[in-house]
Amino acid sequence: MRRTLNAMPSDETSICRACGKPIEEHAARYRTPAGDTHVHCHKEPRVLVIEGDPALRESIVGMVKRIGYLADDAANSEEAIERLPRFPYDVILCALRMPAMNGPAFYREVRSRYPGAGSRIIFMTAHAELQEYAPFLTAVGALVLRKPFTIEELRLAIASPGKDKLS
Ligand SMILES: [Zn+2]
Repeated sequence: MRRTLNAMPSDETSICRACGKPIEEHAARYRTPAGDTHVHCHKEPRVLVIEGDPALRESIVGMVKRIGYLADDAANSEEAIERLPRFPYDVILCALRMPAMNGPAFYREVRSRYPGAGSRIIFMTAHAELQEYAPFLTAVGALVLRKPFTIEELRLAIASPGKDKLS
């Protein structure tokens, strides 16, 4: 099933393993198998933003930074793949439609090089593209953000647990 923001179950309140304080329901959190921490308590949480449109890319990077993550950006999938070995990215925000290597191709490439990393990819898409990519999104159970999205929608998406059907 494709997971959308509306269909997401609400998070249970959990205790930050770094500071011991409760993590508010919709607060950005960093998830590990051992438990959650606040994004701010996690050491250098980092997001990679892959978007071809320069103005949109800058806007998304700004939102990611305001939420509390460090942000790197790439104009396309090829550039993103070069960046991946440098940092263990907590979340990868990836446009679905891109020239050359599109979102699904990027997903497959990441999966083959970094097994398990697929759960950290959130796809960004315009409404019109959603149908075109529906079979792929359904197959991998990817989280999707519809453009244009607000900072609150982005915060929710980043805070949601990764789920990778193919793992
Ligand atoms: Zn904390």
